[in-house]
Amino acid sequence: MTTTAPVTASFGLPGGALVAGEWQTGGLTSGVADPHDGTPVGWVARNDAADVDVAVRAAARAVAEPWPLWQRREALEEAARLVRDEAAWLAGIISAEGSKTIAEAEQEVRRCAETLRLSAAAGPVLRGEVLEFDDSDRGAGKRGWFVRAPIGVVAAITPFNDPLNLVAHKVGPALIAGNGVVVKPADTTPHSALALAAILLRAGVPAARISVVCGDGETGHALVTHPGVDVVSFTGGPATAARIAAAAGPKKLLMELGGNNPVIVCGDADLEKAADAIVRGAFGCAGQNCLSVQRVYADAAIHEELLTRITAGTRALKVGPKTDRTTDVGPMISEAEAARVEAWVDAALAGGARAHTGAHRGGAYYHPTVLTDVPADADVLVREVFGPVVTVIPVGSADAAIAAANSSEHALQAGVFTGVLDDALSIADRLHAGAVVVNGTSDVRIDSMPFGGFKSSGIGREGIRFAVEAMSEPKCTIIAGD
Ligand code: NAD
Repeated sequence: MTTTAPVTASFGLPGGALVAGEWQTGGLTSGVADPHDGTPVGWVARNDAADVDVAVRAAARAVAEPWPLWQRREALEEAARLVRDEAAWLAGIISAEGSKTIAEAEQEVRRCAETLRLSAAAGPVLRGEVLEFDDSDRGAGKRGWFVRAPIGVVAAITPFNDPLNLVAHKVGPALIAGNGVVVKPADTTPHSALALAAILLRAGVPAARISVVCGDGETGHALVTHPGVDVVSFTGGPATAARIAAAAGPKKLLMELGGNNPVIVCGDADLEKAADAIVRGAFGCAGQNCLSVQRVYADAAIHEELLTRITAGTRALKVGPKTDRTTDVGPMISEAEAARVEAWVDAALAGGARAHTGAHRGGAYYHPTVLTDVPADADVLVREVFGPVVTVIPVGSADAAIAAANSSEHALQAGVFTGVLDDALSIADRLHAGAVVVNGTSDVRIDSMPFGGFKSSGIGREGIRFAVEAMSEPKCTIIAGD
């Protein structure tokens, strides 16, 4: 959606892009629509390679200026406080431009404040060590130490589904480590990132240290290929990740990618608890969550009962507008995305799958869907569905469940339900995933934990301490002696 008519910045923001400390107030030609019905909710800039160049150069210059750790800590503490103060404004933006219900948006704002608070407290991660020169015959008479120095300019490329907190997960660690950061948010949800940048500036972050450039993949391409960028921190889909990896050149890459998360339910599990958690884990944020439950492997002895409970729980969900506090499942990010999920489910049904509920669409709304008998090669089973669809599969043994769970190209998070601790730990050891949740689903995260996956689910880990380490490098000082 574009217009050439001059428009003012939306949601009370000072501008529609933030480039090297300057808010852009003209040329806001990129429209942002509410996925509920496609009506425009705001306008931002469409930044080109020249804007990206200004932002990256300013960030690089800023990194060369002193900004002591105590000031970085205070700015991020203040930003966390401001996010709490502005919670209603921020949640309103997240929900209006994205697909979250207002309750889900409020939860994201609380997490964003926590991410900034944890980032503010992460200074000790930068502590170094004294070097052991006396452990080498060439070290005689020498002394030295290392600290963790800022890596330079961080390019932060973010997706639509957590448009505030996933930006904070990159910006908070980047800033406490002393870097400059240029954010390129998803073009469907840019205002959330702009609002966070406005708060960071109010909190005292030096202007040139944070830019938010807006646009689609072209703007992102200009950013990741810029020679002044030192690390690309990307969260998004595997296809975009492959394009970035091919284009970025010799830069450090941190990638948080997709999931196709399995949950194993053993015969001795608490089925009420498992079904309830699976329904919440599969359909929260209309399934547009990298931790969503996509595959459920149920012991054949309890498969029917579990399926009945999951189906009943799913039917009880209320699909509706994001502004309604009683809504459980809002729209997907666009009608096109809902139509993609519809096509994947329809193909599975044509191949012999059975839908126990859902499997229909109205505009951008795809109704929560429970499938069984899905063909082994169906997209809805093999690829990340990133929509409100879960498949339940009977298995004859724990070994079969583990083998099937591990068969995906993704390995982000997994869950296992069982009443036997030894079984839980043995299955957790054998599941290939960045985290395994015992008596919970894949959809469990706190913002301080190491977060990420194996295989196609990513490169490196986020989570404050781990992102600070990744966005800094050891730097030695050596006293050569005689
Ligand atoms: P996407 O890959 O389509 O877009 C992500 C970002 O990349 C956007 O800002 C987009 O404009 C930008 N981009 C697109 N092409 C680019 C290019 N050539 N160069 C540089 N940047 C480019 O992802 P999405 O649809 O916004 O988000 C959904 C995906 O994100 C899902 O796969 C989901 O699993 C994943 N995700 C992963 C995590 C995680 O932490 N593992 C968290 C949330 C979402």
